[in-house]
Amino acid sequence: MTSDDPATLTQWDKSHAWHPFTQMQDWTAPAHQPLFITRGEGVWLYDIEGRRYLDGNSTIWTNLHGHRHPRLDAALAGQAAKIAHVSALGFANEPATRLARALVQLWPEGTLQRVFFSDDGSTAIECAVKMALQYHQLTGHPERSSFAAFENAYHGDTMAAATLGGISTFTERFRRFGLSTGHFPDMAALEQMPRESSATLAAVIIEPLIQGSAGMRTWPAGMLGALRHWCNERGVLLICDEVLTGFGRTGRMFACHHEGVVPDFLCLAKGLTGGYLPLAATLTRESIYEAFLGRFEELKTFFYGHSYTGNPLACAVALASLEVFQEEDTLARLQPKMALMGSLLTDLKARHPQHLGAVRQCGFIAGLDVLADAPAGRPFPWQVQTGARICLAARDAGLLTRPIRDTLILMPPLCTSEAELRHAMQALSHGIAAVCR
Ligand SMILES: *Cc1c(COP(=O)(O)O)cnc(C)c1O
Repeated sequence: MTSDDPATLTQWDKSHAWHPFTQMQDWTAPAHQPLFITRGEGVWLYDIEGRRYLDGNSTIWTNLHGHRHPRLDAALAGQAAKIAHVSALGFANEPATRLARALVQLWPEGTLQRVFFSDDGSTAIECAVKMALQYHQLTGHPERSSFAAFENAYHGDTMAAATLGGISTFTERFRRFGLSTGHFPDMAALEQMPRESSATLAAVIIEPLIQGSAGMRTWPAGMLGALRHWCNERGVLLICDEVLTGFGRTGRMFACHHEGVVPDFLCLAKGLTGGYLPLAATLTRESIYEAFLGRFEELKTFFYGHSYTGNPLACAVALASLEVFQEEDTLARLQPKMALMGSLLTDLKARHPQHLGAVRQCGFIAGLDVLADAPAGRPFPWQVQTGARICLAARDAGLLTRPIRDTLILMPPLCTSEAELRHAMQALSHGIAAVCR
């Protein structure tokens, strides 16, 4: 038996793998045939049987320029030919140094000037949380030790990141083991917070413009600017979690740029390497960094790091991804495709008036609520997993995407062509019709 025999691989996977966010009893059920993705090319993914699918959620929101992009492949191979890893503890490596500079240059001069690398969105958040807490300790405000976040927020799955989150299914079991965090429905509610309470806040954390895992829920325009103002007024640090929104997803390089906001901490991951390798960055201001400076024996050092911090393979690919933004004029070319996405969504809703409720778009991200009776606002029972069944049906029409409960998500790579976008929308329409009739 060879290891590329699908039946054998399926048996091995069902016997030994434990998949994230997955009820393994369903995964290992005899009827379930796991989809092995073996190859990618541009926006297309190929399974072990050679069938192809459009990558409708950009491989869980990471991919920007397509799979097997020649520039990114070359950067990866070129760095692999030199060295795959260098420890950032005690050594520097060229791609990481260059990437730190390139990231800082995406922001107005003198704002976010320091870059701390880690591995995933969650670790970028952990890092910002620890920096915020230690910053307040070092500057004589140890009482600033709690956090404010928003209801339905998602900031990752490590312990601190999870307890900042506001989706109870993911966080409720662990809430009491984590950070002291208050959750607010919106800006108006946060503004009601008494001054004596905000005086104990270390930071507020937000997914700017759009809450991804909440089901692609958009914030009202101006909210981010108002939050920045409130934080300044109350001496509270602002953490912007751009793990999802960073690198062009919202139509600009960063969501913060839509409202001219500079956070105190900026967390980046998913799109940082164009969807190639795990890498994250936490950017901060020089004034925060400076609080950590001192003689060694003062122990102001930020004692935090991971084995793969600043990995040169990942950093080389991230640099190449930033170069592709220039070479391919990615953001300018995205604008008409965002407009097309908008009109195709309007058409789709008109085609399924009974089953499509709210349809939200932010940049090149769409979230579509599926309901049993949209005009009456009546949902399907969540237990029957209508969203997942629609995505399974859309797979037959050549689209892979993953819903959030009964919200369908469409956010293909930024390089998706207009024809490919139409294909994706058609497949979604097929899925809705097949399941909801
Ligand atoms: C995905 C995500 C995270 C967590 O990133 P991981 O790389 O999965 O740890 C954090 N915040 C937001 C907004 C995300 O979408």
